[in-house]
Amino acid sequence: MKKKIVILPGDGIGKEVTAEGKKVLEKIGEVFGHEFTFEEAEIGHDAIEATGNPLPDETLIKLKNCDAILFGAVGHPKYDNDPTLKVRPEQGLLKMRKELGLYANLRPIKLFDELLEASSIKPEILKGSDILFFRELTGDVYFGEKGRKDEGKTAYDLMIYQKYEIERIAHKAFKSAQTRGKKVTSVDKANVLESSRLWREVVNEVSKQYPDVKLEHQFIDAAAMKLIQNPKSFDVVLTGNLFGDILTDEASQIAGSMGMLASASIGDTVGLYEPIHGSAHDITGKGIANPLASILSVALMLDISFGLKTEADAVISAVEQTLRDGWRTTDIADGKTASNKVLNTQKMGDTVISKLTKNTEAINMTALNTATYIASTSIH
Ligand code: NAD
Repeated sequence: MKKKIVILPGDGIGKEVTAEGKKVLEKIGEVFGHEFTFEEAEIGHDAIEATGNPLPDETLIKLKNCDAILFGAVGHPKYDNDPTLKVRPEQGLLKMRKELGLYANLRPIKLFDELLEASSIKPEILKGSDILFFRELTGDVYFGEKGRKDEGKTAYDLMIYQKYEIERIAHKAFKSAQTRGKKVTSVDKANVLESSRLWREVVNEVSKQYPDVKLEHQFIDAAAMKLIQNPKSFDVVLTGNLFGDILTDEASQIAGSMGMLASASIGDTVGLYEPIHGSAHDITGKGIANPLASILSVALMLDISFGLKTEADAVISAVEQTLRDGWRTTDIADGKTASNKVLNTQKMGDTVISKLTKNTEAINMTALNTATYIASTSIH
């Protein structure tokens, strides 16, 4: 198979982790005989410094002419410390999602058994959790009109949803639930917000086409509590842009660390794959970022964009084997981890690559394989 992949490292640890994701793609190409070609492009702070634009036209053209995108993260302390700056790295990210029509963000929250002790949540509450978030990505308060009035003393951000935006992601969530636990939890704030009332109405309507899937509604505040109290009670979670942003960061604790959560952003055209974390200024340049979320994002790319299930499974299997052998980055090490088992970013990438195999018997030996991770994200 021949595929053209654009690598968008972005800022901070985005660069460090996508380098490892790219290495995994190269190795998969070599082991399974695929021809992956790579092009790099700029986004975020570096793009602003170089061109004044967080998403230069040149980048957008490359993105519109490739088979898949591996993205790192955007963000820089300069902008976090000065909210008055008008041109900002995050604008590049939002524009990219809108321009590419990436309206559905899939975030599988699945704990590798080896990391049961790495989370701040009790192991008995965590064990067996398997949640798939469908976060709407191109609507909501992030894209509604925003501004100031009354000489700057009043600010507003409009929370807007249109029926078709809710319908299309709801269908994806219900279809996916049919292949998993047959349950969708739709999260909104319909007791207060009009846009949430439309959300609920539309989700109820769509659900009629999926009688085999149980639908429940939760308010965002209750869902935030239940996610930690009883994560096993969730299967597919369907929610808007803002609520999904917050809930999935919370859910990273179910997976052990922000450094473990991969995501796929899909829509009508090309798919984009990225860890859910940001550019992590606090650890940038220290070589300690966990690359596994980026590597697991590669697995999602192989499956969802290229239909390469065995290859995707080989990646998951290599990650699992690495963890089983006791290798950790700092964020997922616990009190029992020996210091010589804690790897830097590059060595973690190299270790995963050393375990990549075409041997399906070895791949299938792992407990957490396609059946429970990748196939559970199936949207086809
Ligand atoms: P963050 O996700 O960058 O970091 C949160 C915490 O998790 C930090 O303590 C960080 O060290 C840790 N962490 C994150 N990824 C890790 C990894 N791979 N390995 C080990 N530890 C990891 O969120 P933040 O600190 O709130 O934001 C930093 C910047 O990132 C901001 O500029 C923000 O705007 C941006 N951001 C970008 C995206 C994106 O590009 N998709 C998402 C979130 C935040």
